[in-house]
Amino acid sequence: KSDSTYDYIVVGGGTSGLVVANRLSEQKNTTVLVIEAGGSVYNNPNVTNTLGYGKAFGTDIDWAYETTAQEYAGGSSQIVRAGKALGGTSTINGMAYLRAQAAQIDAWEAIGNKGWNWKNLLPYFKKSEKLQDPANYPFLEGSGVAFDPAYHGFTGPVKVGWSSTQLNDGLAQKLNATYQNLDVPVPYNRDANSGDMVGYSLYPKTVDADLNIREDAARAYYYPYQNRTNLHVWLNTHANKITWKDGEEVTANGVEVTLSNGKKTVVKATREVILAAGALKSPVLLELSGVGNPQILSKHGIATKVNLPTVGENLQDQMNNGLQFESKKTYSSDKSADYVAYPSADQLFPNSTALGAELLRKLPAYAAQVASANGNITKARDIYRFFKIQWDLIFKDEIPVAEILLSASGAAYSSEYWGSVPFSRGSVHLSSADPTAPAIIDPKYFMLDFDLHAQAQAARFIRDIFKTEPFADMAGAEITPGLSTVAAGADDKAWSTFIYSKYRSNFHPITTAGMLPKELGGVVDTSLKVYGTSNVRVVDASVMPFQVCGHLQSTVYAVAERAADIIKEQS
Ligand code: FAD
Repeated sequence: KSDSTYDYIVVGGGTSGLVVANRLSEQKNTTVLVIEAGGSVYNNPNVTNTLGYGKAFGTDIDWAYETTAQEYAGGSSQIVRAGKALGGTSTINGMAYLRAQAAQIDAWEAIGNKGWNWKNLLPYFKKSEKLQDPANYPFLEGSGVAFDPAYHGFTGPVKVGWSSTQLNDGLAQKLNATYQNLDVPVPYNRDANSGDMVGYSLYPKTVDADLNIREDAARAYYYPYQNRTNLHVWLNTHANKITWKDGEEVTANGVEVTLSNGKKTVVKATREVILAAGALKSPVLLELSGVGNPQILSKHGIATKVNLPTVGENLQDQMNNGLQFESKKTYSSDKSADYVAYPSADQLFPNSTALGAELLRKLPAYAAQVASANGNITKARDIYRFFKIQWDLIFKDEIPVAEILLSASGAAYSSEYWGSVPFSRGSVHLSSADPTAPAIIDPKYFMLDFDLHAQAQAARFIRDIFKTEPFADMAGAEITPGLSTVAAGADDKAWSTFIYSKYRSNFHPITTAGMLPKELGGVVDTSLKVYGTSNVRVVDASVMPFQVCGHLQSTVYAVAERAADIIKEQS
């Protein structure tokens, strides 16, 4: 292996990496190597079990990245999970297949990424998808699941749909009736993947509906193609850094790796090195390779190859909390209810117009606070532009401002929820020149007070759902947090104690190698090439310039599909 040479090296055999490796190796005369730190989880029941969410957490296939103490959120650190396996985080995620509001992808273009808009990305959502029509699965009768064929792909690699574990006892319909009975109803939305997410929906998952097993990136993009002689995968192999050609231009010529036997070696790339190690790893790999903020690099004795100070900045995630209520009915644990509500600002906030005006006044101060927290590496005026776009998305385009999930198990209803578009931004940076050292991850959860307000208001909204018929009649007392912990009518401050002590990362980190114009702090250009390099790209969740209201995987698949086309066109 040690003297092998490939056309392309893809670092990270996860959700995005396997898409790109698959598509590039469709070209018969092109050789592709995937370097993956984890192993195969093809037969791992913690992965395949469609009701096994959480079973892989804390096992050896979970990177379990730890954040710094979160000073704006009570001081504790958080664990941010990510899959360490062929298939990456798609092997441990919640399998929800939910895209974005069209206007959110259009905002990628509005900020300066020509051609990156919903209309152009939709064909790639479809290209990656194989929707399994629920009409072909009798066990889904009565479950209420629905979709609009205009927005789906039926012949792509990733199986999407509903399996036999879908609950079909009428709960979905009762929940819909409840949403329609709210003072400000949340409308029924037949298909939240159409680019319009607002409303109440039954969402599809990445699942093999015939076999009732999880669909992941390896099952979709690798195993059916593993006999391609021009596609190689090195498992249990850790990428340490990019190696560079001598000369004026900054050109990668390989990757230094530590093989499974502990030996270090360099594998050569004649065309490109493509980073797909995830939003908390790809920026760190850039830094280990000398691409980043010279002040940070020099602290660790790393020579600067490309002065690109925003590598690892602009980290955005969401914060996840949950409420629980007693249920009068007992639900079996071998079924799952996958119901989502996406309220717009008008539907979530009782005083949306006034709130919007107040927030607009605060944006310059928010931007200054974010900039000053990172030593003005990102500029307040740029952050302000990002925030104004986000404000427009919320208050003009009326994107969802929260995600409210509902599930039923045993004698309880659980509602996980999060504000969809927090404003707080943090960073991820290397802590050492040792490539295996944990990075310094600081998402700055709840730094800005709108984020707490949205999180508290979503909790109040959930309480309203449980006070509204028919749900009011089906549910008993609130278990978590309970009215004795957070009183009815509690203000944001009173909610914050519960929120800060119980929240977790929503595991949706993005923008750490953001696709943005260079003058706005971008790390990659519209062809996902790292500024200042001639042949290094990033294709994973790191590049998304703004948060999406859906979950990340569908958009990660679509972006990676488009990335592969761009790479093919340019080589
Ligand atoms: P990954 O899929 O994480 O791929 C990165 C790969 O790189 C991994 O295989 C990793 O092992 C490898 N790697 C990292 N460092 C190195 C190195 N130095 N050398 C070699 N290999 C390396 N999204 C949804 O759409 N729906 C959900 O329900 C959902 N639930 C989630 C639940 C959890 C617990 C988590 C953690 C995430 C969830 N997400 C969900 C988010 C979504 O799964 C991820 O955003 C997406 O899979 C990320 O894809 P990626 O290609 O950016 O990274």
